Amino acid sequence: MDHAAATPVDGQVLESMQPYFTADFYNPAASYEPARHVLADLNNARAKIAKTLGVHKSEIIFTSGGTEANNLAIGGVMAKYPEKRILISSIEHESVINPAIQYPNHTLLPVNSRGIIDLVSLEKEIDDRTVLISIMQANNEVGSIQPLAKAAQIIKKITADRMKRKVNLPLYFHTDATQAANYLDIHAHRLGVDMMTVNGGKIYGPKGTGALYVSSKIILSPQILGGGQQRNLRSGTENVAGAVGLANALSAAQLIRQNESRRLNSLQKLMIQQIEQHLPSVRMNGSLKRRLPNNIHITLPEQDNERVLMLLEAQGIYAAAGSACSALDESSSHVLRAMGISESDARSSLRFTMGRSTRESDIEYAVYVLSGLLKPKS
Ligand code: PLP
Repeated sequence: MDHAAATPVDGQVLESMQPYFTADFYNPAASYEPARHVLADLNNARAKIAKTLGVHKSEIIFTSGGTEANNLAIGGVMAKYPEKRILISSIEHESVINPAIQYPNHTLLPVNSRGIIDLVSLEKEIDDRTVLISIMQANNEVGSIQPLAKAAQIIKKITADRMKRKVNLPLYFHTDATQAANYLDIHAHRLGVDMMTVNGGKIYGPKGTGALYVSSKIILSPQILGGGQQRNLRSGTENVAGAVGLANALSAAQLIRQNESRRLNSLQKLMIQQIEQHLPSVRMNGSLKRRLPNNIHITLPEQDNERVLMLLEAQGIYAAAGSACSALDESSSHVLRAMGISESDARSSLRFTMGRSTRESDIEYAVYVLSGLLKPKS
């Protein structure tokens, strides 16, 4: 019940990666025949990702994961405009927040109590010094789905107005689609974004793989310098096996996303209904409507979430008290705080995230164990 932290690599994805560890181990930059085949496979993987996102293959940069893709998007734009403004939502992953707050003119956009970005504040905050906006497609803790297409409309309208007034600072829109790619449409043009992060480790592909879509209109400053690979935008010998795995995982996830969303949505409903029935003191967090179908986030009033997690683990249930990264951090979740949830409620909150192997019996077992743990001792 912690698929937002990691997913197992899909069998076919794993199989597609294997040749590049052994027979096809060649460096794609080498000039001999077998290496040229490896380069062709790398380029096919790039083209496959581009097709899934509805963009051109020259607009895909392979990275070592979501963290690097987010750092590249932010550092890559802001390096040229360090004094300009960057707006990000207050519920972004740390790999967006931490690079963004390096710049003096950063602003965190508020969300409502359900974890959805406030579009009125977004429109108000964009001024003529704003160069970059980053809003995640779906949140990793409470699963809230952000109104990206509406945000893109606002950004487009402001860009058009700027052009009329001859303000020539560009305005770019980035989204982190790390948690969205299993369940939502990630077509970049339909969403209206100029940059998008995808992450292999969350979509039944290999950990430590990712990509950034960067629109050809953006001139990005590379963040990793070296041998000039990937058109000098990201040096380092490409992880060919990883790139192939990422491409296949992404297209497989998008192929099954509607059926899998429907299936998980009914499990999500079942879990909510069973929690309401057996655990009446428990509160659900986040939006019920605009939510990833695999996410259930609850507050167990007065309970210490770390203690409950340990007790759940003892019964074979692995859940989370926030994101996997904030598990390393002592402070309570910035996402829950941004939603107006009190410090003590945040410390009593748990995240369950389902995946491809989750079945009705898993949900029933989780609620059964949880009710047992919370029953007053007689
Ligand atoms: N963005 C989001 C929304 C995430 O959930 C995560 C990981 O949990 C990341 C980025 C970072 O991904 P990685 O640690 O694979 O680089």
